[in-house]
Amino acid sequence: MSAHLSSLNPPQRDAVLVKEGPLLVLAGAGTGKTRVITYRMAELIRQGVSPDQILSVTFTNKAAKEMGERTKVLLGGNLRVRPFISTFHSLCVRILRQEIENLGYPKTFAIYDRGDQESAARTALRDCRMADSTLRPGDLLNLISRWKMAGENPRTAPDLATNDKEFLAAVAFRRYQNNIKASGGVDFDDLLLLTVDLFKQFPEVLEKYQEKFQYVQIDEYQDTNGVQFNLIKSLVAKHNNLCVVGDDDQSIYGWRGAEVTHILNFQQHFPGATVVRLQDNYRCTVNIIDHANRLVKHNKGRHDKTLIAHKYGEDDVRIREYPSETDEAECVVREIEYLVNYKNVPAEDIAILFRTNEQPRPFETELRRRNIPYNLVGGQSFFDRREIRDVMSYLKIFLNQKDEVSLLRIINRPTRGISTATVEKLMKHAVAHKKPILGCAEEVAASDGLSKAAVAAVGQFDRLLKKYRERFASQPREMDRALTALLEEIDYNSEIEKQYKESQQQLMRKEVLDQIIAGMKEYQNRESEPSLAGFLDEVSLDGEDAFNEKEKVEAHKVTLMTLHSAKGLEFPRVYLIGLEEGLLPHKRSIDADNDAIQEERRLAYVGITRAKDYISISRAVTRAKYGKRSRTIPSRFLHEMLTDAAVEKMIEEAEEAEAE
Ligand code: ATP
Ligand code: MG
Repeated sequence: MSAHLSSLNPPQRDAVLVKEGPLLVLAGAGTGKTRVITYRMAELIRQGVSPDQILSVTFTNKAAKEMGERTKVLLGGNLRVRPFISTFHSLCVRILRQEIENLGYPKTFAIYDRGDQESAARTALRDCRMADSTLRPGDLLNLISRWKMAGENPRTAPDLATNDKEFLAAVAFRRYQNNIKASGGVDFDDLLLLTVDLFKQFPEVLEKYQEKFQYVQIDEYQDTNGVQFNLIKSLVAKHNNLCVVGDDDQSIYGWRGAEVTHILNFQQHFPGATVVRLQDNYRCTVNIIDHANRLVKHNKGRHDKTLIAHKYGEDDVRIREYPSETDEAECVVREIEYLVNYKNVPAEDIAILFRTNEQPRPFETELRRRNIPYNLVGGQSFFDRREIRDVMSYLKIFLNQKDEVSLLRIINRPTRGISTATVEKLMKHAVAHKKPILGCAEEVAASDGLSKAAVAAVGQFDRLLKKYRERFASQPREMDRALTALLEEIDYNSEIEKQYKESQQQLMRKEVLDQIIAGMKEYQNRESEPSLAGFLDEVSLDGEDAFNEKEKVEAHKVTLMTLHSAKGLEFPRVYLIGLEEGLLPHKRSIDADNDAIQEERRLAYVGITRAKDYISISRAVTRAKYGKRSRTIPSRFLHEMLTDAAVEKMIEEAEEAEAE
């Protein structure tokens, strides 16, 4: 037996050694499912399978990177060929960059992030003459995404609408889709849909990828949606070598269209599957697992499974109540400060987990006040920053001239004498004559009146874009220099100084630009064939991580993250906050059906099972909302996870506190 197999338990080893055919590992949290996939990949390679013939799909790009590193270590360092480990989205981007022309899109298609999508949604609503108050861009996008993931398109959506609002949305959907396609753009959902389409319409393309990926593995399979399922199904149809691992108790993306039936009916979908179950939890202490088990037992119709921990801890689960959310933040952070500063606990061992995006705010304030470095994961803040969006817009236009959303964002930023009125005239003309916006200034001047200065400004801007477009394309190993030169040429620093009066602010914003340039340099040095498209793909898919080396992101920082993004991860110490009705379970689920509450319960289960040695579970007795402070109701999950004796004790203590 090779050395690495000896660090697996017998059922894990069984799974790792199944080479061919469908394989399902269905098991509870922390039982080593991800470990099985990682070791199996190493084992396949050891048995002579070429790394690039194995496709492993993970839930996040971060997980993909970690798995790659682990495999390398298992195989003793050097790998000539890198195994293909990626998320569904990255996989689709890789395929589409090669093949999308088949579908009538340009190879240089732009990936629309949430901000771009919102602009596109706003335009679509405006085109349909709908006021923001009738339908908000965000709501439109949610509906569109739901339709897309259900396999619907602008033609079929109107039939599905159940009320006026949805009908309007269906109309706007068509507009939205036409607009982004005309701009050569695709949104995140399109990445999946177009790939499925591609495989359906072009069997020879599908066959190429079936040949390429002889072995397919998928982590967190309980959260695959219908589109992803179809993608996998067609990809493995030929060789039938599919290994999936997951836990139905951790299915937490139902609201986004994930269907737990994919994992529960795996044996029907893929007849003859080997099924392996794992029972031993290697992550948490006995007490932590007891809490998680008691809680999740309250879900109906689940696939009952045994989950046994073997590690004993002391004082490893604490349930706490604080007078308010600011007290909750202060006490938790004070404890963290003590541990980090006086007990040598590495900050990266600690995570604060929460349900909603409003919750981390007081914690961030406290952490900053006490000078404890932290990393807010999944926070939108990075891309919401104006200067990042600006730089990205420039880069996107260099790649794809048709990208109108980006063009309109920066056409006059920094100001260069192209007024809103000019832009409107140009746009009208461009649409009517099907011409590029920047290419029709002369004609507009002749027909519609445009000042000489405006025409000159447009021409100059057009030349600027051309110059840098060529520079980025021809010198992909010098992109960082090109970007530096561009920012200098447009004098972006002055723009920052104009926007932000405080010097501290200005400094911070300029540092962010340096960060992008550094990230670009790191990218172009690392890749064997760097390109602007490759860089932008990475940024669209990885977000802020693309600008930070992994070590820098995590080193000595406390992690703040939502329960959704904590899936699959583990931390020695976890603070699970806000166990209140309305937060966890979320208020939307309370008003909805029982399924929604069950999903919230699974979310809490995911949270608890992230903790290796210690978990603090807390709630605030009062919480301010819209400026008003009111009493909260303890989460039903608190009662469910505790023993009867513990619940009684909690009630007693609360009464005593009340009496004082
Ligand atoms: P989740 O359901 O949260 O995704 P998982 O089932 O994927 O969890 P892993 O993350 O693979 O579990 O493993 C949990 C922890 O247990 C990891 O730290 C892993 O290294 C450790 N572990 C798994 N199997 C073994 C084993 N056989 N011996 C020792 N440690 C193990
Ligand atoms: Mg896992």
